[in-house]
Amino acid sequence: MSNRPIYLDCHATTPVDERVLVAMLPYFIEKFGNPASINHVYGWEAEAAVKQTREILAAAINATPEEIVFTSGATEANNLAVKGIAEAYFQKGQHIITVATEHKAVLDPCEYLKSLGFEITILPVQQDGLIDLNELATACRPETILVSVMTANNEIGVLQPLADIGQICRDRNIIFHTDAAQAIGKIPLDVQAMNIDLMSLTAHKVYGPKGIGALYVRRRNPRVQLAPQQHGGGHERGMRSGTLYTPQIVGFGKAVELALAEQAAETARLTQLRESLWLQLSQLEGIHLNGHPTQRLAGNLNISVAGVDGAALSLGLQPVMAVSSGSACSSAVTAPSYVLTALGNSEQLAYASVRFGIGRFNTAEEIDIVAKCAIATIQSLRKQKSLV
Ligand SMILES: *Cc1c(COP(=O)(O)O)cnc(C)c1O
Repeated sequence: MSNRPIYLDCHATTPVDERVLVAMLPYFIEKFGNPASINHVYGWEAEAAVKQTREILAAAINATPEEIVFTSGATEANNLAVKGIAEAYFQKGQHIITVATEHKAVLDPCEYLKSLGFEITILPVQQDGLIDLNELATACRPETILVSVMTANNEIGVLQPLADIGQICRDRNIIFHTDAAQAIGKIPLDVQAMNIDLMSLTAHKVYGPKGIGALYVRRRNPRVQLAPQQHGGGHERGMRSGTLYTPQIVGFGKAVELALAEQAAETARLTQLRESLWLQLSQLEGIHLNGHPTQRLAGNLNISVAGVDGAALSLGLQPVMAVSSGSACSSAVTAPSYVLTALGNSEQLAYASVRFGIGRFNTAEEIDIVAKCAIATIQSLRKQKSLV
């Protein structure tokens, strides 16, 4: 284990916290009942556990437990939100607004709806990765049924101005969906104060298990209609059929509970680690920070590096750290990510990029090792390049 690279890819996934695993274990063998079984204790205890997670998730975002619909993750929640709204409201209008830097789990369902005749407006972002609120307001039309803007970006970590977006949508009677896969447990979220109608969540980015997520669906002021995308036994008030995955749901609840309890302290700690990493890396020439400098997730640092090949940098870092890297290079093997492309700085697109995703189990010592290794690798690659 100790010889494995330092894990700094927490936007891709996170390990399950041991406290989460301990909470899950009884629900595999002992308390294995189907939460839908209403005639015996096996069903009751499973249902009680599911209810508890519903309450934890609802409290985390200031919703009610009845507004939580369990899904297999944020991909499914996004699909259910986007396609479910399109199908339920197509008679009101067939126009949807989203953003160029959204996750593919929002962009691809929108692309699919386009093939069915819906009109999709994809808003650009500014150089800092944030949307222009005036542009959003201008894009809204009487036939707009949905605005989908993510809470926190999975590549550059930027936090979109949710409350302002929510107000723009509410004023125009447009449903507002946000993909909060990267945000749940990490920043304060309030669906009432922010006028959010639908919110996608997932457990595995916040030290919970993979394969479980949820969609918050507003039930009052206004009541949101949603066409189910999976039909079956009518679970989750008909919005998502299928036997609930009790152990994963228990883990999801425990993960969010822990993240909320530790949020303030952890945000401060991660901010310090990120600042330390940036301070060291930015000593080098030709290092550019991608995304808004402060309006971002505490654990995210995304940089572009001038004068090195993306694939070579990735290869050089691999033995020491597990990061997401690559992006453009002269060899044209890897294309720049569409998120970085959307930032519109054409010069940086020629650079290599690295996304550091710092998390709960990273230490200050690890960050120093990573900084030193990254600096040495970049310097060595630049030297080699200047020799050819
Ligand atoms: C990880 C992620 C998803 C996909 O979530 P899954 O639970 O893995 O399906 C969607 N959106 C964002 C922003 C993500 O970071």
